[in-house]
Amino acid sequence: MSYSEKGLKEEKMPERGTAIYGRITWLTHFACNYRCTYCFYHEGCGWEILKAQNRYFSVAQWVDAWQRLYDTYGRFVIIATGGEPFIYPGFENIIQQISSQHYPINISTNASQDLERFTDVVDPERITLSLSFHPQFESIEEFFGKVALVRRKKFQGCLNLVAYPLYLNKVEYYQGYARASSEQFKVIPFRGIYRQNAYPWSYSDEELERAGIETDWFVKVRRKGTYCQAGVQSALLLPDGQVAKCGQMFYSGIIGNFFDREFRLRHEAAQCEREMCPCAEDKIFGEAELV
Ligand code: SF4
Ligand code: SF4
Repeated sequence: MSYSEKGLKEEKMPERGTAIYGRITWLTHFACNYRCTYCFYHEGCGWEILKAQNRYFSVAQWVDAWQRLYDTYGRFVIIATGGEPFIYPGFENIIQQISSQHYPINISTNASQDLERFTDVVDPERITLSLSFHPQFESIEEFFGKVALVRRKKFQGCLNLVAYPLYLNKVEYYQGYARASSEQFKVIPFRGIYRQNAYPWSYSDEELERAGIETDWFVKVRRKGTYCQAGVQSALLLPDGQVAKCGQMFYSGIIGNFFDREFRLRHEAAQCEREMCPCAEDKIFGEAELV
């Protein structure tokens, strides 16, 4: 493996502005205007504990930091998530500005905010929107009204639905509704406790089939001991500006601070230490694959 003077992998340095160098998953903040019962943050770490990590940097600070990343490495794919990214102050403005250099940018949202305005000012060739349907907060009809809006404006992106055990008997109905609009939900296994059972391990085979969760999901997420590019070509940007290798490592895998002018990614892949890798955050999506 060869390195440049800066110690960067030479073979990974693309011509700036063309090829993708890597992927940043940007966890904007631990805050959401919804409180879904099945939310990952509802139990576990918990909203109340995590919100202490939120820091609200200005638009100028964000644009400057993303520019620095571009100057150091080149273009990144960004997966923006939360909480709810659209309630982060200045989020739309930040995305509008940084998408001139970093793209594609995929934003995971509960679709509760004004997508009409946002989709008027950003480029669907650079931005995709993954909308999640949350039955506790809106009807399927309301949700598909928003899907129709973003599709009309030519925005791509998947539609997410959590296979919460309480709603399992509705998943087929929701999928049927989606099919009527030539859409399909990406069904995400619930992670948490329901009626004292730990999920996703407590789904029966029949429930997995009904929800359309692939049974090999449990095999695919097992990556412990394999070499992974997390921290090298991909990273998780946390709400306080710290950068972790990935969401599974979280605060135990900090590699630096995004706002530090000397921030650099790691140089060498390391073996995965986690039992489960459900989000494959080390995967770098090309434009054509990004959903
Ligand atoms: S919309 Fe998403 S982030 Fe917000 S509470 Fe529901 S699952 Fe959690
Ligand atoms: S959990 Fe993190 S370190 Fe392990 S394979 Fe997934 S991205 Fe890599």
